[in-house]
Amino acid sequence: MNPSAIIKAAEWTLSVEAADGAPSGIFQVQCIACAEMSPAVDDDRLAVELWAMKHTGANTAHRQFKLATESFWRVDPAPSNPLCEGGRRAL
Ligand SMILES: [Zn+2]
Repeated sequence: MNPSAIIKAAEWTLSVEAADGAPSGIFQVQCIACAEMSPAVDDDRLAVELWAMKHTGANTAHRQFKLATESFWRVDPAPSNPLCEGGRRAL
């Protein structure tokens, strides 16, 4: 059995990336009426919500927005995976 066959049969886990500096989310909205976009903001949905409220305040017919949210995931070896060392990934 070659090493790639072992990796293909191994178990993996999927989780949200929690490394230092990784945002829990990046938020940005786009006005449906004029396509103007808010700044993209890390970890602060409220800032984007306020942008939408201010945008509607300045353009009272612009009341619909599309929210785009980015989040980061990671895949690590499960405890039964030969690449797992001490409960965390081995590189
Ligand atoms: Zn607009």
